[in-house]
Amino acid sequence: MNHVPKPPGSHLAPTEVPLLATLEYDFRGYASFPYRNGFIKDGKLDEDRSPDALAAFMQSWLYFGLIAEFTMQPVKIGDFTFTSPSGSYNLVSSKRLFDILSEWNCRLRRLRLLSPSWRETVTATKNLLITAIRASCKFDYLAGLDDSRYAAIALSVKTLLVTLIWAYNTLLPDIKLDVHEFCLIPWHSFHDLTLPHPARYLHQELRNLGWCPALIQRICRRYNYYAVIFLAQIPRKEPRYAIHTRCSSTDCVAFNVSESTYETRHVHENCRCKAASVLTEKIVKIIEDGQIPLVNISRSPGPHLEVVPTKQGDSSRRYIALSHVWADGLGNPKENALPRCQIARIADLLLPKQTLFGKFGTKSILIWVDTLCIPVGDKFTAVRLQAIDQMALVYASADEVLVLDSSLTQLYRPQIESFERNDPPANGQKYWVEYYARPGPDEVGLYKRQSFLSMYSLH
Ligand SMILES: [Zn+2]
Ligand SMILES: [Zn+2]
Repeated sequence: MNHVPKPPGSHLAPTEVPLLATLEYDFRGYASFPYRNGFIKDGKLDEDRSPDALAAFMQSWLYFGLIAEFTMQPVKIGDFTFTSPSGSYNLVSSKRLFDILSEWNCRLRRLRLLSPSWRETVTATKNLLITAIRASCKFDYLAGLDDSRYAAIALSVKTLLVTLIWAYNTLLPDIKLDVHEFCLIPWHSFHDLTLPHPARYLHQELRNLGWCPALIQRICRRYNYYAVIFLAQIPRKEPRYAIHTRCSSTDCVAFNVSESTYETRHVHENCRCKAASVLTEKIVKIIEDGQIPLVNISRSPGPHLEVVPTKQGDSSRRYIALSHVWADGLGNPKENALPRCQIARIADLLLPKQTLFGKFGTKSILIWVDTLCIPVGDKFTAVRLQAIDQMALVYASADEVLVLDSSLTQLYRPQIESFERNDPPANGQKYWVEYYARPGPDEVGLYKRQSFLSMYSLH
């Protein structure tokens, strides 16, 4: 699976896929390969064979055999293997896959120009993929194949299939194979033993890497094996206190904060700068009038805040809504204020962005952030609720929603940019970036326009 690109900065070793295959692919019919090799009993896959024999056969047929039949070229297994670091066993490497697919792509393009039988070849390729998808599902629950060595092979087969489907669909978008559902990773819950072996194996790998169960569920529901393997390699720089052992597959509680002990943080730990505040009564009045309070941040000479009322639905007011993780210290349960260093940081982050929108002034920018725009204090409970009700509208009407998350802001921008610089054939990488950057249906309206920082809004 090491053809899946590695995010820059990732030091995680890719999953080891053991080499068990011994049968060479013979090009005498893909679907009948199991018959010719004695793996069919009473018209069905012979499940009485040992797990080792079944896993080796799966790899011969659904991995090496599939690459050979798909590309119409013999595959030398030796080209796909390397010795484990300990030197004691052989592992599968798919590093050459994109080169092979690139040659395949050129051959098919030539064929399209020269041969009337082109369409038959394409139809055969499409049928091959469908056969291989169905065949791979037959191994999903086989008893004995839940061992991690075998599950890693099954996962490599699924990842290969997603890659080949992508290669086919990129070349032939007009007759593409729509198997989106197959490519997604089945998800029920961690403890569900009814998951296919490769999916359960991947979930466990993510858990071992410290991923939150809620995040795993979100990405597995939305992304395919290939994309999740890419995401799994991103080194997540979460704060040390974020431990996900008490999270469920629907709720992350690692960032929950207690109002009584909460401390607003400065940009640097030893900073003692004063807070910049807005008048809570002014925010209250604006919300009671049915309007939305926005805050104008200007940078000269120092950070300065000014509350600006905005009519609901007024599209001429362009602003950026900030969404932040309270545990990062950008909240304030005591007053509508933030340390001046934090205001300056927000201004520095956002002021260069205004060229994106054109209409903002050059020295100030309008924002909405809960810490400054939702009134703080017990006596304002009713108006607080009113403000919280407005939040969906606030995000939906924003020009951009910027997610500030300390585990992501350090990481994402350079990664996305480096992906977009990639040239073909690795431009498959860009495809994936675009793919997982797209907001899911539940977020449409909330993340109206995603910026680089908000792209990774999976958390
Ligand atoms: Zn969590
Ligand atoms: Zn400070």
